[in-house]
Amino acid sequence: MLNRGYKFRLYATDEQETLFGQYAGVCRLVYNLGLEQRRNWWRLFRANTGNAISYPSQARELTALRAEFDWIAAVSIICQQQALRDLDKAFGNFFAGRADYPTPRKRGLNDAFRFSGRDCQWHKLNAKWATVKLPKIGEVKFRLTRAIPGTIKNVTVTGDALGWHVVFSTEVEHTAPANFGPAVGIDRGVVRTLALSDGTFRDMPKERLNVLDRRARKQARKLAKCKRGSNRRNAARKTLARTKAKIARVRLHWNHERTTEIAATHGVVALEALKTKSMTASAAGKVEEPGRKVRQKAGLNRAILNNAWHQFEALLSYKIAERGGELRKVNPAYTSQCCAECGTIDKASRESQANFRCGHCGHTANADTNAARSILRAGTQPAPRIAVGRPLKRELKRVA
Ligand SMILES: [Zn+2]
Repeated sequence: MLNRGYKFRLYATDEQETLFGQYAGVCRLVYNLGLEQRRNWWRLFRANTGNAISYPSQARELTALRAEFDWIAAVSIICQQQALRDLDKAFGNFFAGRADYPTPRKRGLNDAFRFSGRDCQWHKLNAKWATVKLPKIGEVKFRLTRAIPGTIKNVTVTGDALGWHVVFSTEVEHTAPANFGPAVGIDRGVVRTLALSDGTFRDMPKERLNVLDRRARKQARKLAKCKRGSNRRNAARKTLARTKAKIARVRLHWNHERTTEIAATHGVVALEALKTKSMTASAAGKVEEPGRKVRQKAGLNRAILNNAWHQFEALLSYKIAERGGELRKVNPAYTSQCCAECGTIDKASRESQANFRCGHCGHTANADTNAARSILRAGTQPAPRIAVGRPLKRELKRVA
């Protein structure tokens, strides 16, 4: 089974957009109330009932909440249940160690609500336009820019500074083909976004991103000067949000294009397992060392975030899997200091940001290309311990 999302711009009437805002607001409230309940009341709840707070217990309380408040009952219960399911999943991920502790949803950042697919019918109006029927909201037009294959599992309406969109999440029967494509190692960097082991590079449209980034910072300064609660401040906030949404869109588009290209032409992709999260977290400075080198790190962090390596990895991982290929993560230790020709690890070999010169065999290369080749080797060669240890035993057993 293959899960995909298809996103389209919605062209709603003013009344519908008001409803969207209302729906997103109520669903956010339900999610945040549920989060607060789990965070603050789980002990008391267990003492009283002997059970943990769960999706079923929260769904029951939702029914009571709806009976009490008309404005909550005015929004489809399906969307509210979906919000509670999201919360349940977020806690599941947290307890399994896959994610951080769930945080409250924020207005303007998490404006979304979801229906189940069977409640929303859509049909084509003509070659370019289609309409989707959302429960209690009605028919909403959208630009049909591509086909929607498969069974629609659910339909999400999301809003950001660039407007409202609809996402159809689908499920398609799929058997991955055998993939005999070549293997490639990729080094993700700040100066060159992607360096491939075949010696080629893929760079983000940095000029465009820098222009947008400068604009965003200017707008943020302007916003800081506006008086709290003023109309001017509200307008400045919206302008900044639009710019930030544009930056995100440029990045996503680029990541989509590059991951499609790389997944289509390769069978195995090796990447460094990067701890991007902890690297970005350190810039704020710790209590003991408030803001040492913060300025310097802030530049790197912005670049890391700009490059959106996590997004790249997430997109690449599903695209390569559906083509029968494989994404391998390798230990990032020494990949930038290791010679791709002879395997010698030497800090001094990395002459500069761009140049690598091996002190042992004299191999010279672009430093990022060399790192990409080291990553490829780490991802395609079995680790020494396994090579001489366990498989040998198994080999002997099989012979006997
Ligand atoms: Zn060497």
